[in-house]
Amino acid sequence: MCKILIVEDEASLAQGLEFNLAEEGYTVAIAKDGKEALELYNENDYDLIILDIMLPYIDGFEIAKSIREKSPLLPILMLTARSGVNDRVRGLELGADDYLSKPFHLEELLARIRNMLKRKQWYREISDEQPVFHFGENEINFADLSAKTPSSDFQLTNREALVMRYLIDHRDAIVSRKELLENVWHVSSEVETRTVDNFIARLRKYFEPDPSQPRFIISVRSAGYMFTVPD
Ligand code: CA
Repeated sequence: MCKILIVEDEASLAQGLEFNLAEEGYTVAIAKDGKEALELYNENDYDLIILDIMLPYIDGFEIAKSIREKSPLLPILMLTARSGVNDRVRGLELGADDYLSKPFHLEELLARIRNMLKRKQWYREISDEQPVFHFGENEINFADLSAKTPSSDFQLTNREALVMRYLIDHRDAIVSRKELLENVWHVSSEVETRTVDNFIARLRKYFEPDPSQPRFIISVRSAGYMFTVPD
């Protein structure tokens, strides 16, 4: 049974969500402010967090940041005001996996939650099977998100790891930007395809000996990208 933490200071919204999520079979806890959210997070294991931004004591951005430091793979769904485009961008940058603008439809929320949990399950299964992946002189540990290249040791972000995992999983096949958006971001309409390109550029900078002549993450003209390991 999946455990979900709702961080929301509007009591009626929090209770409505709790009721509906419990109906779906999830175990639910509510934190009514930022302090309580971090306390509950530190004492329990959750499978997913629904996180409002405007909260008493500690706001949703700060909470997302501290959760990300300890739990890079815990799915976070942010709730934002409809007009808050900057909030969405900032939320995604700080490590939220997805966002939903208030007011939202319950069905939409449930669909997002199902997708996020499915993706978490997918990631865990393949990462248990093969946690460490080598290509060229690079190494990625998908269990703790650490990476090694000839020039440095560093941590991948949650989303960087998911993009690499997805590409590696579809090795030698063309992966379109749309496919990456749908499967890694789960936000098809509002995030632009340029976001994917920026991510790929960053990953190439990490792993390609010469990022201007990629050997591993290859561009396929007007189709997308392909991960391959040359002989
Ligand atoms: Ca609020």
